[in-house]
Amino acid sequence: MKCLICETGNLVSASRIEPLRYKNSVLQIHGYLASNCDHCDASLVLPEHMKVNQRLMADAERLEDRLLTFNQIKSLRKLSPAKALCSCLALVGMR
Ligand SMILES: [Zn+2]
Repeated sequence: MKCLICETGNLVSASRIEPLRYKNSVLQIHGYLASNCDHCDASLVLPEHMKVNQRLMADAERLEDRLLTFNQIKSLRKLSPAKALCSCLALVGMR
């Protein structure tokens, strides 16, 4: 894909660690997706990156607030109520 800024270089998708200000902290978002131009060094977050990045940022905020992440909630929903409660207590106790 051609760079939307210089219209010369090619965009290459890559993941990186992105800082995110949240409340009084700066969280480190691992796996944040963006595309970098090999000509002008522009870094663009494309629409196809947004869903993944938004989930990563929401999970980082949830961890900061000592809440369960999206994947933890998803896995708990597959369990029986009794097992889900035990797993939930174990997850909360690990923090
Ligand atoms: Zn460019």
